[in-house]
Amino acid sequence: MLLSKAIELRQEAGPRDGKNQMTSIDALKESLVNAGRILAHEDQGDYIFGHVTARLPGDDARFLMKPHNIGLEEITPDNLITVNLEGEKVAGDRPVHLEVFIHSEILRVRPDIGAVVHTHAPCAVAFSSLDRPLQGIGNEGALFHAGIPVFSETADLIIDQSRGKAVARAIGDKDVLIMRNHGIVTAGRTIEEATVLALFLERACKAQLMVEASGGAVHTCSHEDAVAKTARISTQSGKVFDYLTRRVTTGTA
Ligand SMILES: [Zn+2]
Repeated sequence: MLLSKAIELRQEAGPRDGKNQMTSIDALKESLVNAGRILAHEDQGDYIFGHVTARLPGDDARFLMKPHNIGLEEITPDNLITVNLEGEKVAGDRPVHLEVFIHSEILRVRPDIGAVVHTHAPCAVAFSSLDRPLQGIGNEGALFHAGIPVFSETADLIIDQSRGKAVARAIGDKDVLIMRNHGIVTAGRTIEEATVLALFLERACKAQLMVEASGGAVHTCSHEDAVAKTARISTQSGKVFDYLTRRVTTGTA
């Protein structure tokens, strides 16, 4: 479903060998800038909290990351920092987020993953407190109707490697994770995919919160319809990201 499109998107993102590496790094930085602006615009900013990362082209052991002390929408190509899989900053001027280990540990054990998003998405956080399965209420809910993992070991921030490893175990081979009373994690082959997954997950949680406040769903999407709809929607991540980029950069969309 998402995987095939993700691989396609990663291939579109640029070569991972030495040739044209500067171009692909510049493109990756631009995608991270746009991801931050999109997430903030879609109400997933939490003041200076929340972060996005993407593995460096041609270097599986280091990744670019939004620095601490700025908002998601304030990311620029020049203020991104470079971090290794130990969670240590190796380049850049600004400080690293305490929760860097969410990213470093997922990227360490998931070679198929090129980007990770962690936000304190408000509807997902509220929904996480209900301890209820996510239902196929709307289109986005259908994407997650088969169930998604929940991290409940702690509601505290993920401030060390051991907690980061626990988060990586919790997401396993899935693409999304709800961190109970805390936030969400999404993992994509590209930052575009991880970003759109975060938006879809938040919208699914928002729809269910509205339904729960009205007494709960009477009808939900059938398994067969959910599978069919997932196949259709999950191929659109790149186009959704492009649209949202146009909306935040030019205001023409
Ligand atoms: Zn957090």
